[in-house]
Amino acid sequence: MQTIVVDPSRTVLKIVGGLLESAGHKAHPFTDGRDALECLRSNHDIDALITSVELPTISGIELCRQARSISSIHRPLYIMVMSSSQEQRKLVKALEGGADDFIGKPPVTEELFARLRAAERLGSMQRDLVRLATSDPLTGLLNRRAFFEKAEEVCAHAGAGSHLSAIMFDIDHFKRINDTYGHGAGDQVIRLVADQAMCASEIAGRLGGEEFALLLRGIKLPEAVKIAEDLRAAVAAMELSFEGDQVKLSCSFGVDEWEFGDTIDDLLRRVDLALYDAKAAGRNRVVAFDPVLSGLGSVKGTGIIRAIER
Ligand code: GH3
Ligand code: MG
Ligand code: MG
Repeated sequence: MQTIVVDPSRTVLKIVGGLLESAGHKAHPFTDGRDALECLRSNHDIDALITSVELPTISGIELCRQARSISSIHRPLYIMVMSSSQEQRKLVKALEGGADDFIGKPPVTEELFARLRAAERLGSMQRDLVRLATSDPLTGLLNRRAFFEKAEEVCAHAGAGSHLSAIMFDIDHFKRINDTYGHGAGDQVIRLVADQAMCASEIAGRLGGEEFALLLRGIKLPEAVKIAEDLRAAVAAMELSFEGDQVKLSCSFGVDEWEFGDTIDDLLRRVDLALYDAKAAGRNRVVAFDPVLSGLGSVKGTGIIRAIER
């Protein structure tokens, strides 16, 4: 584990740091709680914090509180308070402020290691739970909810001058695969298409059945169209064989670029309309959002287009 250790005494830091390092952990020692918080904010690999109650600038209790607010469901942090037996009341406050556990000061070696092993078990369980809750079990892509959450977060951080594009695509006549070769073959097709999607963007989600979405950071519309076109060609070139039949696949794509002030729903509504237009125009094609084609006149972002269901 990567552990921040905070104590006003360099001797204590040296002892605890040495214990941690001897057990294969990486120790980040600090005498000041504010420096420790700075390290926690900037180093996302930190997964544990061990702090004393009495610190010079901010108290150990305040440090626990602020550290807990930096941690999140995606960033587990185990917080342990080191205290002498006279600090019982402060200990309760620390636990209420966000600490998970406490240990005597100086810590007993075996007890410290046992508690860190418990922390590792908790952390890995939390990571497993997050993975199960956010990924689509068939493809490993983000599931619908996780894609929207991630996309919403990216949109919220986008400002004037940011470039951000989205692609939605859907396998054409997919039902025929299920009907002709069975659900297992259909699942295999979904997985293969998802593998292609995963290569095209780090933010890739399966929105439902055979429909996918990609969010492309730092990408303008023409580049996004090119990415979609490459993906379309890659899927069309796939050579599949079911029950001795050579089977060809195709997908239809909608694309648009984020505009200043757009929410993720605004952007994806337009992209969904473009996808709808790609289907209507004959499938196996990429269509960039066009308000005229979509029957919206020249107005963008009016919220009058069909809703994207979360
Ligand atoms: P279009 O070109 O208009 O998109 O036609 P389509 O046949 O691809 O679309 P349609 O919506 O008619 O059918 C989608 C089918 O996908 C219906 C549903 O049973 C099937 N499906 C949804 N989820 C899964 C899944 O996880 N696995 C499999 N094998 N099939 C699924
Ligand atoms: Mg389809
Ligand atoms: Mg569909």
